[in-house]
Amino acid sequence: MKILKIDHLGIAVSSIDEKKNFWIDAMGLKLLGTETVDAQKVTTAFLPVGESEVELLESTTDDGPVAKYIEKKGEGIQHVAFRVENIEEALAELKEKGIQLIDQVPRRGAGGAKIAFLHPKATSGVLVELCEREST
Ligand code: ZN
Repeated sequence: MKILKIDHLGIAVSSIDEKKNFWIDAMGLKLLGTETVDAQKVTTAFLPVGESEVELLESTTDDGPVAKYIEKKGEGIQHVAFRVENIEEALAELKEKGIQLIDQVPRRGAGGAKIAFLHPKATSGVLVELCEREST
């Protein structure tokens, strides 16, 4: 499998509106846009950093994965996403190596990306996302 770069850091926040100012005003990042992904009960805001992005995640419901994360651990880095060349190939290879996956097949993420999560049990507690995008 070929990892191209760290695609983004997924940061769980209680409110994008309230929490984005740190990243914009203090850190000087630009908000590229927001998108709601209903399947994951989350609204995401993208703030590019060089070749990667900070992705702020706000839950759209009380029972979404991001809401549950904040309830358990508080706000913070919820996942780290690695861009891969071919996500199906990557998942097949990891499966063969006995790595526990959350997603056996890719699902659709923000920005039209194909994404899949690995199980934190297999990754020292880090929720790892693989993603494949059309653009580079
Ligand atoms: Zn992500």
